Amino acid sequence: AYNFCAGPATLPESVLVQARDEMLDWRGTGMSVMEMSHRGDAFVEIAETAEKDVRELAGISDDYAVLFMQGGASSQFSTIPLNLLGDKTSADYVNTGIWSTKAIAEARRYGNVNVVASSEGNGFTSIPDQASWQTSADAAYLHYTPNETIGGLEFDFVPDSAGVPLVADMSSTMLSRPVDVSKFGLIYAGAQKNIGPSGLVVVIIRKDLLGKARKETPTMMNYQVIADNGSMYNTPATYSWYLAGLVFKWLKAQGGVKAMGEINRRKAEKLYGFIDANEFYVNPIDPRSRSWMNIPFILRDEALNNAFLEGANARGLLNLAGHRSVGGMRASIYNAMPEAGVDSLIQYMTEFAKERG
Ligand code: PLP
Repeated sequence: AYNFCAGPATLPESVLVQARDEMLDWRGTGMSVMEMSHRGDAFVEIAETAEKDVRELAGISDDYAVLFMQGGASSQFSTIPLNLLGDKTSADYVNTGIWSTKAIAEARRYGNVNVVASSEGNGFTSIPDQASWQTSADAAYLHYTPNETIGGLEFDFVPDSAGVPLVADMSSTMLSRPVDVSKFGLIYAGAQKNIGPSGLVVVIIRKDLLGKARKETPTMMNYQVIADNGSMYNTPATYSWYLAGLVFKWLKAQGGVKAMGEINRRKAEKLYGFIDANEFYVNPIDPRSRSWMNIPFILRDEALNNAFLEGANARGLLNLAGHRSVGGMRASIYNAMPEAGVDSLIQYMTEFAKERG
């Protein structure tokens, strides 16, 4: 089966096989990773190796701390303003869809949010041109969502934040293509797309942004505390951290983020090319802003939606229904989706359109 779910998403099969093989006895320790003390040598080695590997993959310098936190990406929507507003009263946000909207709503609990640009007016089908953004020089930071998982909208550029720390929700694009981390103040990513199991969230924060949390910030949300304790202030999500480490090793074996970016571009171009050439299917997103990871499409005749999904399921093409808030279809094709999965989907879509068109 090929699983096109947006998250939790498909993981590399070899990672799952390795996790199964190591389940009862990790390298002769007589313990499952799930049973280990997070302070013991075995787990500390797992944790440190994962951090080293992700630093290498993403090109993260020592100017940044890498944190393995919990509560998913959504908890970061409040953790970020609590830590980064400092003595400023406002932050800038770009609104490109459902996830930015949620980040904005949460930040408004803690300060003023200046929405510097929004694509709401065109139904979130394009990224607003940066020349029109109304940024403010005294904003604490500029937040944006490089890839909107539900809308299928992705930035094809890194915004210029004019000296203000740039904060990015990379949940559904992290490690899918090369990114210059040095342009960012903070990057965060819920793990359940390209990294591992849900619940874990990886935070990459420039060290000069630590230590600015408001005094009412819960300890578990204080970046400085988490950094000072090597992400082990409390018991971390050990098994998720271990699985993320296996995914990082897998990614390195594939040739790293650059090689993965080329594969991802090819997979996405294939599927968009097919959709654009077949009048049975439509993708509404401005071609410049199309996501490589999440490809929404609708059938011109939406009365056929159920038949399409049933036929797909019967072939092992799973979870193609669009997000409940937007309907239609969505194919999420993260790193772990093999090109053969995209080929199978196109084959099925071709046949379905022929039969029903
Ligand atoms: N941000 C983006 C871009 C997402 O795709 C998601 C969810 O899947 C989230 C945030 C929320 O993540 P979580 O469910 O881990 O809180």
